[in-house]
Amino acid sequence: MKVGIVGGGISGLTAAYILAQNHHEVTVFEKSQELGGLVASFTQKGWQWPLEHFYHHFFSSDQELFDLAKKLKIENKLFFKKPKTSIYLEGKIYRFDNPQSILSFPKLNLFDKFRTGLTTAFLKVNPFWQPLEKITAQKFLQMTMGKKTFKLIWEPLLQSKFGPFAQQIPTSWFWTRIKKRSFALGYFEGGTNTLISSLKTAIEKNGGQVLNNQEVTCLKPTGKKVEITVDQKKQSFDQILATVSPQTLLKITPSLKGESFKKLQSIGSLCLVLELKESFLKDKTYWLNINESSFPFVAVVEHTNYIDKSHYNNEIILYVGGYYPTSHPFFKMNKEEIYRKFLPYLEKINPNFNFKLSTLNFELFTENYAQPVPGLNHSSDLPSIKTSLPGLYWCSLDHVYPEDRGVNYAIKLGKEVANEILKTTEK
Ligand SMILES: Cc1cc2nc3c(=O)[nH]c(=O)nc-3n(C[C@H](O)[C@H](O)[C@H](O)COP(=O)(O)OP(=O)(O)OC[C@H]3O[C@@H](n4cnc5c(N)ncnc54)[C@H](O)[C@@H]3O)c2cc1C
Repeated sequence: MKVGIVGGGISGLTAAYILAQNHHEVTVFEKSQELGGLVASFTQKGWQWPLEHFYHHFFSSDQELFDLAKKLKIENKLFFKKPKTSIYLEGKIYRFDNPQSILSFPKLNLFDKFRTGLTTAFLKVNPFWQPLEKITAQKFLQMTMGKKTFKLIWEPLLQSKFGPFAQQIPTSWFWTRIKKRSFALGYFEGGTNTLISSLKTAIEKNGGQVLNNQEVTCLKPTGKKVEITVDQKKQSFDQILATVSPQTLLKITPSLKGESFKKLQSIGSLCLVLELKESFLKDKTYWLNINESSFPFVAVVEHTNYIDKSHYNNEIILYVGGYYPTSHPFFKMNKEEIYRKFLPYLEKINPNFNFKLSTLNFELFTENYAQPVPGLNHSSDLPSIKTSLPGLYWCSLDHVYPEDRGVNYAIKLGKEVANEILKTTEK
């Protein structure tokens, strides 16, 4: 069977790998120059390891990732560490990643901390997310952890992550973040690119093709086949898997016009990656959550407080990132303009840091479809992996709910849709 895959991100490559292993003729079309989609990497002169455009790490609950790494024989390249996580609140940095640091956090009293601990423990052990999608995270957290904890810790995070949609986020989204996240964080030797290049090699070894710079502009059913248009050239496939956003799928597939998934909401993301001469977060914090809704970004991530700087020519890597509706003016700005917008806020975090003297280079990465925005009772709005067009399958960030988007769930989805396509050959 001839299968065309639109998108060389994790889900597309995983599906292609499984289908190629099962002796199907697979072609992956990726519009960008690099493979990987949201985990794509870049490199600079003198770096040994490529670096993700957007900060990435894995969790100890990422079973699908471990299984795939084992199959690709790269499990020995995956390592875990416990880097420091902190929050920035009212002009100060507080460590916030273990029971001692949370107990000594001065902004909450013992009763608030007890309620927070109890709610977190409940969410960790509770396997039932369905009742939780009927209540907003805002209401649930105010009720369980208390209004003060919500205002200080969670409201700014919901605000900066979801902006105008913050008040509609169901507790099920919060549940999966608490349940699946671990303090120990995983990374591949050589970065996530190790996973991407191993997948590519495995697909090609099994006879598949992985093509870069190939933007699919049209998907059209023709008889029993589906036709793909790339560079005005048409090619026919027995089955197609599209791994793109709902908006892109509708744009390139005119015959899907009336589909209900038009209603799905999402936001974009933007990351400024600074290459510095000296450390910015001197207390060795890797991940700094910004709990100030007036700041234009939600996280400052000093990658080299987690992964040794020797892999990056001894440069310090600092990500500054946020989430924004795609209509936000940031998406029209260039990297210098964003740098100038962010700089005064970075200077508030570390007033002694001299960016002029320390900045070697900086890059800007943007993505329109970075985070689905769930609403109450979201499970009833979920799209299916089978579209209404025979032979056209679809998987995206929107398909992994109640999980939050993540590499582990993109792998799971890629496997699921490949198995669905394989079933059609058994009939
Ligand atoms: C800021 C940020 C931080 C994240 N951090 C983490 C993390 O720490 N840990 C974690 O596990 N996950 C993280 N994620 C999530 C993770 O990156 C994604 O869940 C995962 O990579 C999604 O893979 P995918 O294949 O579903 O989609 P994508 O990666 O979006 O792949 C889709 C591919 O389709 C291509 N494409 C689109 N249109 C076309 C077209 N017309 N023709 C051809 N190709 C096309 C795109 O270029 C892309 O390569 C993060 C995401 C973001 C945005």
